[in-house]
Amino acid sequence: MIELKSPAEIERMHTTGQFVAQILAELSELADVGVNLLDLEHHVRGRIRQRGAQSCYWDYAPSFGNGPFRNVICLSVNDAVLHGMPHDYTLRDGDVLSMDLAVGIDGWVADSARTIIVGTPANDDLRLVRATEEALKAGIEAARPGNRLGDVSAAIGAVATGYGYPINTEFGGHGLGRTMHEDPHVSNKGRAGRGLKLRAGMTLALEPWFARTTDQIVFDPDGWTIRSADGSRTAHSEHTIAITQDGPLVLTARP
Ligand code: MG
Ligand code: MG
Repeated sequence: MIELKSPAEIERMHTTGQFVAQILAELSELADVGVNLLDLEHHVRGRIRQRGAQSCYWDYAPSFGNGPFRNVICLSVNDAVLHGMPHDYTLRDGDVLSMDLAVGIDGWVADSARTIIVGTPANDDLRLVRATEEALKAGIEAARPGNRLGDVSAAIGAVATGYGYPINTEFGGHGLGRTMHEDPHVSNKGRAGRGLKLRAGMTLALEPWFARTTDQIVFDPDGWTIRSADGSRTAHSEHTIAITQDGPLVLTARP
């Protein structure tokens, strides 16, 4: 079931979205060569506590994953792209770091991810990150009343294809609002003009992620961390948006 949100409810998600965006901006400043992933996790824990927000990840226990998640942010480095568990790892020069954060404030959730490169970036990595950001922008642009879900997926997929990156369709975007994951699933690849008709009041997390040379994934023994199957580097960009009569509104826009 897809719940349409009222303008007042969207505004509450916007409040959460701005908080998520602010934390990701802080982490982008903090993350550097020599910084441990656990330091970033603890920064987010402190900010969530201080704000009286709720982590969507703590105790998250989907069908995959060995036991509930016991962190408040996903940090995925290099070939890891989704659900990376913050662990004792010190960032090195040129590491590609994806940071994915979802929290709730007063019952309304926002979800956003951003990929940065610490230290000296490699051109291939910059290109990959740029592709996910452009794909996200294209997907947002297509998220308008009267369009269909396939228009969003096709717009995202066209950017990846233009860059020559394969697209995995097992994990993608999703509805959200009162919880982190609601209907519908939003594939990063699809056919324009097909699928669910988009309506004002729908709230979606769009999240293109690509690996440089594969669409296949492997899970770490922890059951959480998802990596590219061939070890190639990855990137991930995500925003929470609301579809309004006036077009898409980005609720997690960067400060
Ligand atoms: Mg996310
Ligand atoms: Mg998400």
